[in-house]
Amino acid sequence: MDVLKLKDKNIVVMGVANERSIAWGAAKKLLEVGANVIFTYRKDRSKAKLEKILEDYQDHKTAIIQCDVNSDESIQNAFKQIGEQFGVIHGIVHSVAFAHAEDLKNRFVETSREGYAFAQDTSAYSLIAVANAARPYMTEGGSIVTMSYLGAERVLEGYNVMGVAKAALEASVRYLAADLGKEGIRVNAISAGAIRTLAAKGVPSFNEALHRYEEVSPLKRNTNKEEVGDMTVVMLSELSRGVTGETIYVDSGYHIMG
Ligand code: NAD
Repeated sequence: MDVLKLKDKNIVVMGVANERSIAWGAAKKLLEVGANVIFTYRKDRSKAKLEKILEDYQDHKTAIIQCDVNSDESIQNAFKQIGEQFGVIHGIVHSVAFAHAEDLKNRFVETSREGYAFAQDTSAYSLIAVANAARPYMTEGGSIVTMSYLGAERVLEGYNVMGVAKAALEASVRYLAADLGKEGIRVNAISAGAIRTLAAKGVPSFNEALHRYEEVSPLKRNTNKEEVGDMTVVMLSELSRGVTGETIYVDSGYHIMG
């Protein structure tokens, strides 16, 4: 029985930089369950990586489209292309974030106005802009899932301006969910445990975080992108049809510990 009901559904996956990306954990499972996956990328380097990865998925319906979330024009063009090519969009995985390295290394109090705005624009506002650009094509309702981190609600060393951006992201999830519910569109965040990816390299205390998760979390181990990917697929699917505006933790239970 196809409980997920994602077969032949059109899902946009934003943020696969390489096979380590959390977004790839979700995309791989989406391809396995028969969804059509439309990948968006920012840099040509990621496009080349995606083309290579997708060599193993030639019998699947996929597309690779450029989208720089710092640009309204780029977002509009990307979703117009997706709409023209696929018609209806059923789901979106927003797995995109960025902050300047110096804003993670320096003291938080030294965060620059520009660095703050850039982290917010890329990592939080982008979800709102993407939802608005996708909306005209989400004519059958749908589900939007974004990636957050515990730094949204607790002070984590070296997470700084990104923690503030994730707090805005989680609040945006609630406001978007309230606004888009009447169109049958659900919006949720997954708060993932620490996972070694390209983006994680920019967080100075990342290795210590990995050790702490192993020591402290109820499951006594780190989270992997497959676990986050599986929950993302559930949140995109019929199984989660009654859930919106939530932040769901996939972190070996770490956040419940004192
Ligand atoms: P990643 O580096 O593989 O993915 C980040 C992606 O963001 C990349 O594909 C990059 O191209 C994209 N991106 C950055 N700026 C962009 C822009 N202007 N336009 C379009 N795309 C842009 O790293 P990841 O860890 O897989 O990160 C994915 C998401 O998961 C992020 O939101 C991150 O904050 C979140 N997250 C990561 C962890 C972790 O420990 N790795 C934990 C919790 C949440």
